[in-house]
Amino acid sequence: MHQPHTRPPSTPNEVLSSVFGFDAFIGLQESIINNTLAGGDSLVLMPTGGGKSLCYQIPAMLRQGVGICVSPLIALMQDQVQGLTQMGVRAACLNSSLDPQSAWEVEQQLETGQLDLLYVAPERLFRPGFLDFLARCNPCLFAIDEAHCVSQWGHDFRPEYMQLSILHERFPDVPRLALTATADKPTQRDIVNNLHLGQAQVYATGFNRPNISYTVLPKNNGRKMLLQFIRDNHPGDAGIVYRLSRKKVEKTAEFLNKHGVTALPYHAGLSQAERYRNQERFMREEGVVMVATVAFGMGVDKPNVRFVCHLEPPKSLEAYHQETGRAGRDGLPASAWMCFGMQDIAVLRSMIESGEAAGTRKRVEHSKLGSMFAFLEAASCRRQALLGYFGETIEPCGNCDNCITPVDTWDGTVEAQKALSNIFRTEQRFGVNYLAHVLVGKETDQIRRFNHTELSTFGCGEELSLDQWKSVYRQLLAGGYCSVDPERFNALTLNERSWPILKGERPIRFRTDPIVPKRSKKSKPA
Ligand code: ADP
Ligand code: ZN
Repeated sequence: MHQPHTRPPSTPNEVLSSVFGFDAFIGLQESIINNTLAGGDSLVLMPTGGGKSLCYQIPAMLRQGVGICVSPLIALMQDQVQGLTQMGVRAACLNSSLDPQSAWEVEQQLETGQLDLLYVAPERLFRPGFLDFLARCNPCLFAIDEAHCVSQWGHDFRPEYMQLSILHERFPDVPRLALTATADKPTQRDIVNNLHLGQAQVYATGFNRPNISYTVLPKNNGRKMLLQFIRDNHPGDAGIVYRLSRKKVEKTAEFLNKHGVTALPYHAGLSQAERYRNQERFMREEGVVMVATVAFGMGVDKPNVRFVCHLEPPKSLEAYHQETGRAGRDGLPASAWMCFGMQDIAVLRSMIESGEAAGTRKRVEHSKLGSMFAFLEAASCRRQALLGYFGETIEPCGNCDNCITPVDTWDGTVEAQKALSNIFRTEQRFGVNYLAHVLVGKETDQIRRFNHTELSTFGCGEELSLDQWKSVYRQLLAGGYCSVDPERFNALTLNERSWPILKGERPIRFRTDPIVPKRSKKSKPA
């Protein structure tokens, strides 16, 4: 029989200071902890580094019984347990890396009530008999970490995660927390549906990083632009420069060094020793610039990184948010600076095409890339566009290129009406490419098959080129004036913001120089 462990009554704040040594909660931690203590479910959407772990660790220590954290990342699980144990928290993990003897010992501790927190891999949880065993161990909460793994739409779908809804059926009174740093709307919806979290409180802020200023520029000799940017804005500062390929990493690091900026390369092709050495120097020394592929950054927590540059756009806004989020952790002003050209877009597209992923997955990746392009092309506040993607609404920020220097725009009210009305006429079932073809009146096989040559919108948009119409759609999407349905082949759909435009109640402007470069060289709109 297990013996319930009795400990002195305590409050979240006491645990925060006595165990973790922090003075105050940040963001929504306290509300989430209180919700869990009161038995409620929570959906926690916070960026990496936002402080998600405490949200379940503290309630696990305060509630009678053991908190169960389901996590797919064995390495991180072990780090967490090690850190917690050092602070005197009774934590352990169960995963495939344990030998049978150690696993047995952990199970003993569980059954005798000697643990506050157990980290467990999902496949372990669903081993025959394990849930019955767990029922005897008095679970006091379930934290589902990396909850986006339950979504096909997320970047990291794990089929085992689909089964986690069983927890609720099996333990209806045990509060759950689903936690993730990936929180675009389709992913949120999947998490709620697949984990039956309809009743959960949603805690979704903290994606905004007000001290980071965003800039996006068309590329014209990227390395030179980068050097100029560093010299003008961040001489002697620490920064990270992301590049898509190892070769470009090497060349850019060399180039910067040649021009007096201390730069080190980092990519998966370097020996482990060299990567380690470079990372150490970046962490320890002042003013080192790390030129890296996406291989760099996980777990790198250097507070005074003053800038993060991208010389090619990343594959998604999640990636962009995460990578730029490594700047300015200390809260002081920092820059996110990106430049890109037509070539990069083609490369990113073909990387998806030539990838291993299955058809559905590719469609998801293309769609994420599309949102990235829409961000690049945004005519208004970048932060608004970025946070809008994560479901947050804000006022124009005053701290991005488009806020500081408004871009040249043209009155696209009529074009927006045509574009949206075209979505409506084709019954909200088609993607950007198809829709643009209808507007310019191109008789493709598909358009003929659907009989869309008969529509009033067919050929009504001859004033713009195909690429310009695509840009109009992307800008409408970026502004939230239409939506995308990932479950229907990325079809564009209308939403509540579409109607004021369709009814002519709201004028809209598009950028004159859509940054995403055009392939055809037709005339610009007046
Ligand atoms: P996430 O899981 O959201 O990526 P973590 O839980 O790992 O974030 O927390 C990120 C960092 O912030 C950690 O170093 C953690 O110790 C620190 N942290 C979390 N909560 C607080 C707090 N209330 N005060 C100070 N630091 C905190
Ligand atoms: Zn802004």
